[in-house]
This record gives sequence, C-alpha cells and structure tokens, in this order.
Amino acid sequence: MFCPKCGSILRPKEKAGKKVLFCNCGFSKTPDAGETSVELREVVKGAKKIEVVENVETNPKIKITCEKCNNKVAYYWTQQTRGADEPETRFFKCTKCNYTWREYA
Ligand SMILES: [Zn+2]
Ligand SMILES: [Zn+2]
Repeated sequence: MFCPKCGSILRPKEKAGKKVLFCNCGFSKTPDAGETSVELREVVKGAKKIEVVENVETNPKIKITCEKCNNKVAYYWTQQTRGADEPETRFFKCTKCNYTWREYA
C-alpha cells in the first residue's frame, strides 16, 4: 500500500485495537472493513410467541352418510332435548356441507 499523497509506503500500526495504515506525511488510512473482525451479535429481545388457539370443533366424528352430499363423515353429539326420562337426541353435522340432522334414539 502506498500513500496517495506522497507515494511513500504506508506503515501499519495498531491504534486502539484497530489496524491503521500511517504515512510519514501524516496521512492515515483504516483498512477495509473485512480486515477488522467485528463481531456483531444480534440481541434478540424476549419476543414472546403468541400462540393463537384456534376454535376447533371438539365434537367427535362418526361414520355416517350425509343424505345431502353423500359425505361419509359427520360430527356427532347428543342433547337432552326434553325431560330427563326421555331418550337423548343424537345430532349429526356433515363435515363437508355442514348439513345438520338428528336421529331419535
Ligand atoms: Zn504520505
Ligand atoms: Zn353433506
């Protein structure tokens, strides 16, 4: 490396931990950034991941044929519609077309 001002050979020196090229005329140059190894550490601040809990259908599925679309799977649940002595009603909801029907036990 030669000094662009006077053409003399630049002399490397350490200044505050950094390499600097000096010339007798007073010119100084810091080498390219690639020569000085500066560790860049990414400080990841405690970014919490928010888990979105989806509202999932919790009803169990049953194998039954939908009379509307011929789908073979439907959600299944029971409900006590009338008095306690009455049998509960079974409900089915097609997983494909959402057609809902019921069946008396
Ligand atoms: Zn010089
Ligand atoms: Zn259906």
